[in-house]
Amino acid sequence: MTEIEHENHCPLSAVDRRLGDLHRHWHEAERGYFEPDSFRIAIQTAIQTLRTVTFIVQSNKRLFSNFDPWYTSWQDKLRADPLMRWMVDARNKIEKQGDLDAHSFVRAEIVASYYDEGPRIEVPAELFQNPTELISSIPTGALRKHVLKDGILRIQRRWVENSLPDYELLDAVGIAYGRVAELVADAHRELGLESPSTLVGDIDRTQGEESRGGRLPCMIGHGDARSHNVWLATGQSMEFEEKRVKFNRQDAERATEKYGLDANEMFPSKDPSPEATLNGLFATARKMFSVDGHHDTIAFLLRGARPVTLKRIAVQEHGEKYLVMRMLAHEVINFGADGVIIISEVWSAPSDPNNPYRRAVDAPEKREFLSSTLVTKIGDPVSLLALIKRTDNGTFLGDTETLRDQAAISFAPIYSAWGRKIPDSWIEVTEIATRGSVPGDDVRTST
Ligand SMILES: [Zn+2]
Ligand SMILES: [Zn+2]
Repeated sequence: MTEIEHENHCPLSAVDRRLGDLHRHWHEAERGYFEPDSFRIAIQTAIQTLRTVTFIVQSNKRLFSNFDPWYTSWQDKLRADPLMRWMVDARNKIEKQGDLDAHSFVRAEIVASYYDEGPRIEVPAELFQNPTELISSIPTGALRKHVLKDGILRIQRRWVENSLPDYELLDAVGIAYGRVAELVADAHRELGLESPSTLVGDIDRTQGEESRGGRLPCMIGHGDARSHNVWLATGQSMEFEEKRVKFNRQDAERATEKYGLDANEMFPSKDPSPEATLNGLFATARKMFSVDGHHDTIAFLLRGARPVTLKRIAVQEHGEKYLVMRMLAHEVINFGADGVIIISEVWSAPSDPNNPYRRAVDAPEKREFLSSTLVTKIGDPVSLLALIKRTDNGTFLGDTETLRDQAAISFAPIYSAWGRKIPDSWIEVTEIATRGSVPGDDVRTST
């Protein structure tokens, strides 16, 4: 059922519509982000609307056979949540005293690895001149050389309210939307009704709801669109080219014929497990590589053993991958993925202690592999590798090798998105390579 059909039929349509209004006000605040008055009006309206959703639920009390215990348990839950308590106070302030004390800041940070370790400053927007101070804080030596070669300066405008310093305000309202949307979905369940499904275009994204904490897909990673990314090496801004690969039957049939593929091999129906999918996809990648002599970098997001979406990752410069993997982590949350497989060609070389930040591609003794790595929310990483041999007679692949529990450093943003700790062994690998300065970068293998 589409949202509109749902609203026309649902006994809770007044609630559904108010939640829809909140979504609209959230986008108005997003659109008005750089105009202080537009932002102020829209975000305050959103906070007021947020509060009225539960009022309307209460006024529909008669629809429920046993409203009070159900509603009390939600009330307790929301009252125990500091962010939701803040929203109630904020709404009271807006309605009884005046405007929120919101300020616009500029956050500037240097991104030069897969870990969130780069220096960062946050200054009131009117005081922000340029990030010279930040750049001069980069340590000297090999790390400085690396940062200035591959690092990115990320500049982001942020609205922050005085009494809620740990949140960006639009994000805070997005999280609060999610909590209230969960209550609304539960009200539907309580009445035995179908909840409205989350459609993005014609794709049903309802399944990611839990992972998004009830938020809509547009509310995840919204800060990326407002960020300005500049290469430290050139001072030029960075443009992303994002491509989602679309599967359709025709393409699939064409590919099946061209590469001699077997769908049963790709997604085995017996023994369905993420690792079986990894093996199936890698067997397919080998066939495609043998025909084409190259392989694009493709990320598959999995739920259980099944891919839910796939993306082609086009990275021109190494540093770009630091941001691309962070954006991929947002998609992981958005789709409720619990596994990720990336297939790509990689360079590999032993690390050189005298040259700790040298990437494999720049090493004299580098070797090229077709590789595929699987990471999951609970298991250890699994990598498959096949040596690429380029000769005058063509390009060949060596046997497939399986490596377990290797440091999959570039997947660190995805581990963070899942709330997983970065394993100590990953940090040790980079520590050994760089003698203690702990850069979250994968110097041994690089694309
Ligand atoms: Zn409804
Ligand atoms: Zn939206």
